Amino acid sequence: MISRIKGTQDFLNLSVYNGIVSQAKKHFIEYHFHEVATPLIEPLDLFKRSLGLETDVVSKEMYLVIPANDPSTSLRESGNSEILVTHEKMCLRPELTASIMRAFVNAGIQDTPWKVFSVGPAFRHERPQKGRYRQFHQMSIEVIGSESVLQDALFLAMFDSFFSNVLKLQGYALLINYVGTREDRAEYQKVLKKFLEKNITALCDLCKHRMNTNSMRVFDCKQQSCQELYKNAPTIIDTMCQESAFEWQQLKNMLEELSVSYSVKPTLVRGLDYYNKTVFEFVSIDSEGLGAQNTFCGGGRYNTLATAVGAAKDYPSIGAAMGMERLQLLLEAQGALQIQEIEPALCVVIPLGVEQQPLALHIVQMLHAHHKCADIILDKTSIKSMFKAADKMGAQWAILLGADEQASGTATIKNMITGNETKVAQRDIIEHL
Ligand code: ATP
Ligand code: MG
Repeated sequence: MISRIKGTQDFLNLSVYNGIVSQAKKHFIEYHFHEVATPLIEPLDLFKRSLGLETDVVSKEMYLVIPANDPSTSLRESGNSEILVTHEKMCLRPELTASIMRAFVNAGIQDTPWKVFSVGPAFRHERPQKGRYRQFHQMSIEVIGSESVLQDALFLAMFDSFFSNVLKLQGYALLINYVGTREDRAEYQKVLKKFLEKNITALCDLCKHRMNTNSMRVFDCKQQSCQELYKNAPTIIDTMCQESAFEWQQLKNMLEELSVSYSVKPTLVRGLDYYNKTVFEFVSIDSEGLGAQNTFCGGGRYNTLATAVGAAKDYPSIGAAMGMERLQLLLEAQGALQIQEIEPALCVVIPLGVEQQPLALHIVQMLHAHHKCADIILDKTSIKSMFKAADKMGAQWAILLGADEQASGTATIKNMITGNETKVAQRDIIEHL
């Protein structure tokens, strides 16, 4: 038996997943977004340049794609890895935002704000656990080319409304922070570094390393002892310029006016390098739900991503990604499955003997021509087993065709819920369903 690859999942019932996706599409379309799709394979450089070399995603979690007939592959097997380096490297996308920005720049789109969303798989080589997979699905929503901080407020209100009004999600919180401009961060990193140096003996090894590479990333540390220490760290809010301080205040005021509840989390920095100014996460505070993987949506502003992927100028933008598996786990844990798409009533056609099977196929074809959900039973022998099978299939109607019915051009329709049976002319079947 061949098993699936570790960290991947088979989705054998997609009704909740599809329910979330279709509700989300409808919601975002109402906010004037449209759907786009980009390839699953991308140049590795795209993510190196956009997410940053020091991020976990790029430094540890990438899947490289190497064609089997690539000359470098055989060389690599014989131990010569140098040739591979000179080749264009491809990878499986670890997220969608950089690809969407690449598509925007490649297409030379001029009409901004460009408001789009995209849904599909992403790949990261992580340690699999509940809510954390190596192939997972994201829905990424982006506003490219809009500078106003009020755009951020509307964007957050849109998500909040999706989670609370559409999905009816219980027990979640919106955490926000402001990581300033590049200049604000340069100023802040000096102050932060001083604080970290003073407390260096209390830091874990990873934080010691991050302190010198990208000091704000220390806030991403999963160690409890480090997190305790960072509660007393200086915040960027204290050092940022006046203009940033004003925007930050404007964002909070507007959220309040729109009745969006939020908490400020000064250590929220997000894992990817491209963020600036507003950053946020929607987290589950329902202990039943996701355990450690409690963030089901995260994002922020990425004003310099366009130039990082090769645009001639910056396009101030804001985006977010929802983790679809985490949303599904949360909804399932809360039993809030009204999101499932309602399945149409099923009619099962039952030919009692092989002689009636061709007629049964014609009846099924007629049902489908009228857009009924219909199936047929061909592989069972006794009437009893056929009825049992129809019941198991969840049939609302069974349409019986025996020798009598065949001779008289009729069919017996059985309502599987009430048990009532009526004999009707075959041409009148649709009317009776
Ligand atoms: P985490 O801190 O949980 O690793 P992240 O900051 O790496 O998350 P993002 O890059 O912001 O995640 O991705 C956006 C969302 O995608 C996350 O909030 C999460 O819901 C989901 N996600 C990220 N990685 C995974 C994964 N390996 N499996 C399932 N969902 C994931
Ligand atoms: Mg991660």
